[in-house]
Amino acid sequence: MSNLDLRPPATVCGGRADVTARPVRELLTGRSVPLGESTVVRRLLPHLGRRMIGAWCFVDHYGPDDIAQEPGMQVPPHPHMGLQTVSWLHDGEVLHRDSLGSRQTLRPGELGLMTSGRAIAHSEESPREHARFLHGAQLWVALPDGDRHIEPRWEHHAELPRVTGGGGLRATVILGELDGAASPGSTFSPLVGADIALAAGTDTRLPVRPDFEYAALTMSGEAEVDGVRLAPGSLLYLGCGRSELPLRADVDSAFMLLGGEPFEERIVMWWNFVGRSHEDIARAREDWMSGSRFGEVHGYGGAPLPAPELPPLPLKPRGWER
Ligand code: MN
Repeated sequence: MSNLDLRPPATVCGGRADVTARPVRELLTGRSVPLGESTVVRRLLPHLGRRMIGAWCFVDHYGPDDIAQEPGMQVPPHPHMGLQTVSWLHDGEVLHRDSLGSRQTLRPGELGLMTSGRAIAHSEESPREHARFLHGAQLWVALPDGDRHIEPRWEHHAELPRVTGGGGLRATVILGELDGAASPGSTFSPLVGADIALAAGTDTRLPVRPDFEYAALTMSGEAEVDGVRLAPGSLLYLGCGRSELPLRADVDSAFMLLGGEPFEERIVMWWNFVGRSHEDIARAREDWMSGSRFGEVHGYGGAPLPAPELPPLPLKPRGWER
């Protein structure tokens, strides 16, 4: 997934100032952002009122869209730096290609994890023959300073650990660790991403970590998270300080639980890059436009995405009041 804003705003985030140490319930609604010609996504992060959840710095939710008569997702080759992308589907399939030569069709329940490190480029598309519905989430995780220059890698994990809980709770651990079960996906800071299905009639409590901040992204149904009933496509920020999370559902429901240790470093995020300074971002943009550093994606039927213009003012990791 790429940020396709023609004028993407710079986002400065990270640091403890934004973290709520106590449990809270802040409901954030997404804004619609067009992605290519035929897909509209709901962007939940970054959000005016909330920039990160642990190291999670970008959350898009899309679908379910009926793409039977449509090309579906068509995101041309574009670069990433300083982050991991997490691709997660509830319906349909996405074909991933990258500059390492990876070519992988992702299906529901499988983790597509791309660690950009210093530089990678990829494309994402609905295969020509595709299922009727496309429904999923695209998330980014910021890499800590010590890991953001590592070599890029692509991981595909079709088998992920599951956690079952009281009533009809069934969780898949996508990234990090939940209730003692750990995903095989590489992580670089303490965090969790899990897909949690609640069968109708579930009324339970999920053990969580008081030192993590959490948020819930509803995918389907009407999960009730800590007493707040959530419609699909909204994000409930929960803060820190919980050791368990009350969960209920009157109808079959699913949501993604995102959490992590508050990310202390200040970062600068612009377009598809996470850096620490204006110079980092400007250099990455220049390297993409001149065809260096990020490599080439082969096999996509279209031209790579050009980078938008950089905002005129220097992007600074400090100097923004949040
Ligand atoms: Mn992308």
